Amino acid sequence: MDAPVWKGSGAGLRHAIIGAGMSGILAAIKLLERGDRNFTVFEKGSDLGGTWRDNRYPGLTCDTPSHAYSYSFAPNPEWSSYYAAGPEIHAYFRKVATERGVLPFIRYGSEVNACRFDEDAGTWRLSLADGGEAEADVVYAATGVLHHPKMPELSGLDTFAGKAFHSARWDDGAVLDGARIGIVGCGSTGIQLVNALSDRAARLVHFQRSPQWIMPVPQFDYTAEQKAAFARDPTLIDAVRHDKDYWAAIYRFTDGVADAESPEAAEIEDICRQNLETSVRDPELREKLRPNYRAACKRLIYSWEYYECVQRPAVLVETGGIAQVEPAGVRMVDGTLHGLDVLVLATGFQADRFIRPATVSGRGGRLLDDFWAVRPTAHYAVSLPGFPNLFMLNGPTGPVGNFPLIDIAEMQWDYLEQLLEPVRAGRAKWVEPRQEAFEAYEARRIEAAKKTVFGSGCTSWYLDATGIPSTWPWSYQAFVDAMKAPVPDEYRYA
Ligand code: NAP
Repeated sequence: MDAPVWKGSGAGLRHAIIGAGMSGILAAIKLLERGDRNFTVFEKGSDLGGTWRDNRYPGLTCDTPSHAYSYSFAPNPEWSSYYAAGPEIHAYFRKVATERGVLPFIRYGSEVNACRFDEDAGTWRLSLADGGEAEADVVYAATGVLHHPKMPELSGLDTFAGKAFHSARWDDGAVLDGARIGIVGCGSTGIQLVNALSDRAARLVHFQRSPQWIMPVPQFDYTAEQKAAFARDPTLIDAVRHDKDYWAAIYRFTDGVADAESPEAAEIEDICRQNLETSVRDPELREKLRPNYRAACKRLIYSWEYYECVQRPAVLVETGGIAQVEPAGVRMVDGTLHGLDVLVLATGFQADRFIRPATVSGRGGRLLDDFWAVRPTAHYAVSLPGFPNLFMLNGPTGPVGNFPLIDIAEMQWDYLEQLLEPVRAGRAKWVEPRQEAFEAYEARRIEAAKKTVFGSGCTSWYLDATGIPSTWPWSYQAFVDAMKAPVPDEYRYA
């Protein structure tokens, strides 16, 4: 299909936002707040919501408290519970996007295949999968972190007679009640699936390659009176959002992960160990569920119910190796066959993709794939040398972990707004980080990353291909401080 070339309209900079998930909607709202209407949100799907659109598995819950997992400018008195479920969060983003007037700016079914910086014109040229093209002065990659499912290499998977699918590609045709269900994977997704299906399945086999540390957290519903009070008095929402115990836990977590030898890291592990010791009654199962790596090395699981659910009669934790999938089920290395009707692959995501597979070429034809040959990275997680006016929201080396990614995106937006100010004012055409400033940042980051608990000896999606954590390695406060204002010398304007 030939789509028209979008060249923007009206005065001012032309902006292209890639992705209509949480970060892309944020970017659109922020542009509209400034009176900028010269932008398009390119969304490859047919709906907004990003991760909350793609993940529809039973039990999907955000493990950031609902009032904290909200835009700071759009509190929601209606959250039904302390931790909200996926469909409710998806509905929240739809509601906010609708109320803020974002919908007319979203162009659905528009996968961006390529972004090429035209140095002479100082603009980005975008090629779309539908054959369309677009031009923009500024590009925001709001493409998400965990977007492309990682399928396990299980021989015989295609011979399975029942339904087999990745957790982020849920098959609504799968009958779950009374079924024999297998779940491969013990990340946040696999654990939430066990919680949701443990009392629905006739038999639930949880194929566990590595057990997980479980941080106990409270969960409760908000009453109608509480919701009415939130609506009447938004300071009550602020009180939940800024609850001192919640933030103390966040700071303990981020200080702990930043230094594997810190007392905070030890404290996190003590809480998780205590949870295991006191919650799992059968000593054999307890040992099966005991990790042999540091707590928070893999992403910590926050759950109020996993240990209870995994002890339900229908659940079997299978720790043997999978030999192959057969039409009837999953055959273990020791010859045991687990007969199954449904096999869910909660095996995670390719965490090094970000804006890819789009081909991105910057100044002088510099290819993002080459720039990211060793690992995806960005200057303070936001911008890249050689790629002018290209900004990442929740991009590589940002803080990921057990705290609100919405806050991260909002801070990143405020930071890049400051970077763009001279461009907006017409004093420059573009901005990018200086190569040497980026290299100094990256060298510091890598050295610090090696000391984090993420790098203390486990496998996880936090690690890059060389085994170094690809995350923000410092504390949450360090990120807050870094995002307050760019260091002018670190950037080049032209
Ligand atoms: P994940 O954390 O990457 O976990 C993947 C799981 O699959 C691991 O247990 C892994 O085992 C296992 N696995 C992979 N290939 C396997 C194979 N061939 N055989 C057996 N096991 C295999 O993925 P995820 O659970 O989807 O979670 C990804 C991230 O999404 C989370 O860390 C979190 O950031 C986010 N998330 C958040 C929430 C939330 O509540 N906020 C909910 C869901 C997801 P090994 O550990 O042995 O490699």
